[in-house]
Amino acid sequence: MIREIVHYDAPVLRAKGKEIGAITPAVKSLIQDLFDTMRHARGIGLAAQQIGEALQVAVIDVTGITERPSKMWLKGKPVDPEAYMPLILINPVLKLTKNKITGHEGCLSFPALTLDIPRAQRVGVRMRTLDNETFEFEAGGLLGRAVQHEVDHLHGRLFIDHISAEERRAIREDLEYIKRGEPIPEHSPKNES
Ligand SMILES: [Zn+2]
Repeated sequence: MIREIVHYDAPVLRAKGKEIGAITPAVKSLIQDLFDTMRHARGIGLAAQQIGEALQVAVIDVTGITERPSKMWLKGKPVDPEAYMPLILINPVLKLTKNKITGHEGCLSFPALTLDIPRAQRVGVRMRTLDNETFEFEAGGLLGRAVQHEVDHLHGRLFIDHISAEERRAIREDLEYIKRGEPIPEHSPKNES
């Protein structure tokens, strides 16, 4: 079922998700809703908080996005990320490498806002699968970025938390539009050198 996507600054977006226990029919139905809603919105990831549920589950699908390649490793060996899509991250725990890389990011809870966000270049993920098994992998490129963005959501963190105070001031008006549920007006071209 396609659900309504919660926009900034709904309190649930700041809620730390409760860990998923047994994979009940309700959990399966929530995961199906995440997929339906993400695909309808043409997103590459969606966390439970974004459809109003503070739980540790998010979905990701980077299939077909070639202009921003994804990387994935299993036990240190490179694998084709598409063979593992879509991903259902249940109770994921991340290990971030120190090297950071900055790239564009959007968020379905912040319509029309794109920011440059520094993220770890490579991230280790340990999560549960639907079959109640532990699955570990490493991710980089677009997938690595998506994993960090979604797991942030599961802890009530948002991509605006990663920008400087100065950048935050620069988007203050945009955030006000999003809060009011209004579209962000076109930006006047900035004179940057
Ligand atoms: Zn997001």
